[in-house]
Amino acid sequence: MPKYAKDGVRQYKKRNIDWSKPDSEKNYRKIYYEENPRDPKVSLDQYYKNQKNILKRMKASREKDRLTVMNHYSDGKLECDCCGEQNYMFLTINHDEGRKKWNHPHSLNGHKLYRWLIKNNFPKGFSVKCFNCNIAEGLYGFCIHKKLDGKKVLPK
Ligand SMILES: [Zn+2]
Ligand SMILES: [Zn+2]
Repeated sequence: MPKYAKDGVRQYKKRNIDWSKPDSEKNYRKIYYEENPRDPKVSLDQYYKNQKNILKRMKASREKDRLTVMNHYSDGKLECDCCGEQNYMFLTINHDEGRKKWNHPHSLNGHKLYRWLIKNNFPKGFSVKCFNCNIAEGLYGFCIHKKLDGKKVLPK
């Protein structure tokens, strides 16, 4: 349970969790359940219902983080930096100079990457790209769109 200070402000314990490590989420959950064991008087049904609501809220908060990051790195345009793809579901965050430069493991992706960007105050060197352009850059070091200037690639 959260402890309340005298003035009624909630006091949370500060935890030094390094979110770039792959098992940080697991450790966080472990600490949480050790500190907040389930009350046996509360029925499991109620417990699951509550858990569902928490998950729903967590999902909404993840969506918000994604939108914040996408808006920042596309100057509010929400489109692919290379081909102009505007379908939000296709948009990803691209490491412009590769992951090695930042020492980012592949596990630091999706929401973990968005949180990292927010926490580090939106560093430069990232851009919004669609899956196609992002993967092409990762594979070839450049996007095929730029190299071919609008021409189609056909099988030989
Ligand atoms: Zn694209
Ligand atoms: Zn492209």
